[in-house]
This record gives sequence, structure tokens and C-alpha cells, in this order.
Amino acid sequence: MSWLIPKNHPRYHSLVTREKLIKHFESGVVARAGLIAHGRGEAFDYLIGEETTEPALRAIKAAACALLLANRPVISVNGNAAALAGEWIIKLADVVNAKIEVNLFYRTKERERAIESLLKSLGAKEVLGVDERFQTTIPELMSERRRVDSRGILIADAVLVPLEDGDRTEALKRMGKTVIAIDLNPLSRTARAASITIVDNIVRAMPKLVEEASRLKQMPRDELRLMLSSYDNNAVLSEALEHMVNRLKKLAGEVLRAQSK
Ligand code: ATP
Ligand code: MG
Repeated sequence: MSWLIPKNHPRYHSLVTREKLIKHFESGVVARAGLIAHGRGEAFDYLIGEETTEPALRAIKAAACALLLANRPVISVNGNAAALAGEWIIKLADVVNAKIEVNLFYRTKERERAIESLLKSLGAKEVLGVDERFQTTIPELMSERRRVDSRGILIADAVLVPLEDGDRTEALKRMGKTVIAIDLNPLSRTARAASITIVDNIVRAMPKLVEEASRLKQMPRDELRLMLSSYDNNAVLSEALEHMVNRLKKLAGEVLRAQSK
């Protein structure tokens, strides 16, 4: 349907992203609630100004360092992440040598398989989280979301969780893992609980994360450690909110001036 959206439409990118989600909803990759979760993300993106901010770039750099330094990095994938950034997830896994694990909030066997086959069609060689034989549970959580792969998230030291739920993020953190979140809402429990929070749209953040990881891969590990140790996630979250406040103040002034003309 995206051919119907004129390129000069002010919400062009946002509308193309919606079409992508709808297409993958119809193919069983995206959950119904995933469409709603995206709407919450969009609202924050509107406030941010639909661009990658300076604090988000700092978080992306720290995330690249953490993934490169990890011994067992894992990228956790849900329906929205697979639909919106599948190809970038595979590229990132390749660059930082991470495993890819399907991990769902609204878990059904069909959706797991649909996500696995989407990722495989995009070039993923191995997708964890689907084979029942390796499924185990993390003690920290109730419900279906406890399920993890014994070869993946269970033994990971760093986990990238794009568009994750707060409970799971907190549980992974309590298990001592470095948790890297991508979340447009700097106030969500995920954003607050993660070790590194990239407050940006997954569609913009993932290509930048791949680029940064490829660049930093050439650097000595000691330098990566130094960069990571100077990273302050609370400062980044606070600056993300300040960015929105300042932008809204500027817009409020513009609205006022337009009315008095
Ligand atoms: P939490 O459980 O962390 O408190 P929540 O309950 O408000 O968050 P969920 O539905 O659990 O929200 O998770 C969806 C999160 O994903 C939201 O915080 C939303 O801002 C974010 N999100 C949705 N779409 C995108 C996107 N395209 N890029 C980045 N973040 C997104
Ligand atoms: Mg939630």
C-alpha cells in the first residue's frame, strides 16, 4: 500500500512504517497489541521530533561498546522488532557475534514460527527461542514471559531488548545482565531499568547501531571499556526528557506568535 503514500507527505516515513506493521500483522508476525504499542511509541516520537538526538547517539555508542565487549551477547526479538528492523538485527548479530532469540510477550507457537521464518528469509542462520528442547524458565518472572532459551538469554551477559516490556527488563537486570533497551518512551519502566537506553525509533536506531558497532570493532578493547565506563544512563534519560521539554517550549512560542499575527 505504501505506493499510495505520496513521498512529500509530512508523515511519509511514519506511514510507511505503519504499512509495514500492518503487513506483518496480517502474516502473523506482529501481535494485535503490538499495533497499539507502536502507537504509544509514535506519540513519543512526535514529541522528540522524529530524529535521532545527541543523547540517543551517546547511548548507541555505549550499546555498541557493551555488545562488542560481551562474551555472550544476545538480541531478543519480538514481532514488532522483526517487522521493523529484521534485516538490521541480522546485520548487528553478525558484526558483534550475537545470537538472535525470539522472545514474546504474547507468545504463540505460530507467531514464534512466523518470526523465525521471516528472520531466516532475511538471512539469519540460527534463531533461538523456538525449539522446545532448549526452552527453560528464568526464576525471576511469572507467566509465559519466563521462557528463555538455555543457549541464549539464560546464559547471556548482555541482552539487546528492542521494544521490551518493563517486567522482563527488570528481571533480566536482576539476573545481573547488561540490558540495552531501545524505547521511544524515556519514562517507561524498560527505559528506567535498562543499563543503556536508546531513546529513539528502532527504525532509525538499528542502522546507526550497526554502523557504530562496525566502526568500534576496529578499536582496542581497553578503549571500548573506557568509553563504556564513562557512560551515564540517568544523564541520557534526563537529557532525552529535556530535549522534549525544550522542543515543546519552542513550539509553544511559535504557536503563540502565529496566533498574534
Ligand atoms: P513498560 O512496560 O516498559 O513500562 P509500557 O507498558 O508503557 O512500557 P509496552 O507496551 O510494554 O509499554 O512496550 C512498548 C514500548 O515500546 C513503549 O514504551 C513504546 O514507547 C515503545 N515503542 C513502540 N514502538 C517503538 C518503536 N518503533 N521504536 C522504539 N520504541 C517503540
Ligand atoms: Mg509494559
